[in-house]
Amino acid sequence: MSDHIVESISSVYKKISHAAMRVGRDPLEVKLLAVTKTVSPEVIREAVDAGVRLLGESRVQEAKEKIAVLDGDLPDTVSWQMIGNLQSNKAKLAVQLFDMIQSVDSVDLARKIDRYASEAGKVQRVLVQVKLAGREAGSGISPEGLIVLLEEIGELHNIVVEGLMTIPPFPEIPEDVRPCFRRLREIRDGAERKGFKLPELSMGMSGDFEVAVEEGATMVRVGSAIFGRRLYQ
Ligand SMILES: *Cc1c(COP(=O)(O)O)cnc(C)c1O
Repeated sequence: MSDHIVESISSVYKKISHAAMRVGRDPLEVKLLAVTKTVSPEVIREAVDAGVRLLGESRVQEAKEKIAVLDGDLPDTVSWQMIGNLQSNKAKLAVQLFDMIQSVDSVDLARKIDRYASEAGKVQRVLVQVKLAGREAGSGISPEGLIVLLEEIGELHNIVVEGLMTIPPFPEIPEDVRPCFRRLREIRDGAERKGFKLPELSMGMSGDFEVAVEEGATMVRVGSAIFGRRLYQ
C-alpha cells in the first residue's frame, strides 16, 4: 500500500477532528467521503484499506466500470455515492449503482429515480443539491424552491431525502465559502422547522472542508487532498 494515501487520509481525519473540536462538535459526527473520480480501482482499494467507507463518483459510466472491477472485493460497508450532475437518461443506472445520490435538484429527476428504485425494489437514499447565489450556471435547486421540492418528493415512496448538499459558487474565494456553508445550514434548519428531517449536510471539499466542519457539515467530500491533482474536475 502506498504510504502516501494512508498519510493523506489520516491527515484529513486529523484536520476534521480539530475543526470539529474548535467549535465543540463531536468529530464522530463528521463523515469523510473520498472523491474517487479519475482514481484507479487499485488506488481506491488502498483508500478503503486505509479505512475510508464512502466513495464519491461524479460520472455514472466511470463509476460503473470501477464498481464492476471492485465489486465483491470491498467490505459490505463501503458505500458508493453519486456527487455529480445526473442526467435523466442515466438515472436508471445510477439507481442500480449508488447507495446515495447527492445531486437531486428537480422533481422530474426525483420522479425518475423513484420509478427506477421501485422497479429495483429499493428505496433510494438521496440528498437535495442546493444552489446558493452566485454563478448562473451549475446544478442545484434555488433556496426558494427547496420546500416545494421536498414536499413533492415527500409524496414519492421509493426515494428518501436524508439532507442537503451544496458546492459553493466560488470555492476559490475563501471569504465566500463560510457564509455559503452557514447559509446551507440555516436553510436546513428552516426546513426542519417546517417538519422535514434533514440530518445530513454534505459540504466542503479539499480546499475548505475544515471551514465546512466548523459550520456544521456532517459529510465532507475530499478528492485531491487525498489522491493528488486530477486531470479533470
Ligand atoms: C470533485 C468534487 C469534489 C472534490 O474536490 P477536491 O477539491 O478534489 O476535494 C467534491 N465534490 C464534488 C461535487 C466534486 O465534483
